[in-house]
Amino acid sequence: MVDFQSVLNGIGITATKATDRGRIASYIPELEKIDLQKFGIHLINIKQHSFSSGDSDERFSIQSISKVFTLSMALGLIGEKLWERVDVEPSGDPFNHLSLLEMENGIPRNPLINPGAIVVADILVSILDNPKDDFLAFIRNLADDDSINYDEEVAQSEKMTGYRNYAAANLLKSYKNLTNDVDSVLDFYFHQCSISMSCAQLANAFYMFINNGNCRRNNTQLSKGQVKRINALMLTCGFYDEAGEFAFEVGLPGKSGVGGGIVALLPNEFCVATWSPGLNEKGNSKLGMLALERLTTQTELSIF
Ligand code: GLN
Repeated sequence: MVDFQSVLNGIGITATKATDRGRIASYIPELEKIDLQKFGIHLINIKQHSFSSGDSDERFSIQSISKVFTLSMALGLIGEKLWERVDVEPSGDPFNHLSLLEMENGIPRNPLINPGAIVVADILVSILDNPKDDFLAFIRNLADDDSINYDEEVAQSEKMTGYRNYAAANLLKSYKNLTNDVDSVLDFYFHQCSISMSCAQLANAFYMFINNGNCRRNNTQLSKGQVKRINALMLTCGFYDEAGEFAFEVGLPGKSGVGGGIVALLPNEFCVATWSPGLNEKGNSKLGMLALERLTTQTELSIF
């Protein structure tokens, strides 16, 4: 059996010594306050044994990782109809890019870039009685942890500076691919991105993607087929215009966020979350990517 703990210990030591740690996202002012030295990693295997190193219990802003949770919830609620409003192709573009949206008549390339996630947020705002409460309850159930919450300061901070997301939502509205008004959809979107979770909580919440759609509380959230499709989207679209590089270096489906988190997984084997707030030029955590490359290289475990 693979000795995950000693691999994570080695990764933690290397990360502590790293001098080139990337840059913290500054376009959301509240995120700039985070200490660049932070690093955490947490892995849970299919038998629910956990392994960790560093700041794996410290909560951070999950940002775009939340797009996987909203997609899961929306797909569970409306099924295949979702694909009438958002496509499933990699964009090869940064997460907040807008020109493709205009060229493709308001149908976002995939649900993991911002315009796609805003359409998914619109679907949830339409269906749920209390969108923010219901979505939080969904994540708490997945993670088996009722202490998970929104970070109001991060949500407000992004609301003040989210010009490109307002532009995306208005463009979607002009193409009639947004049912609710722009402000209420973006209020939900900024809140979903603001959720604070630790590496341990994220790895636990992603457990259902390695366990055929059954989460840790042992209730089924998604069908096997839906999990297959979300994992495929994470592989092809989870890292924006660096999805190819992540598949090449790491070889796992996964999702990053500008808070510096990354979650990646090997179906039926393990899921792992890393956090290091410094980003590379594509907006993905610099040390997180290096850590995951090392994990899959040393353990020789990847989907390939
Ligand atoms: N809330 C961020 C935004 O919309 C999420 C981006 C990300 O994590 N890549 O800009």
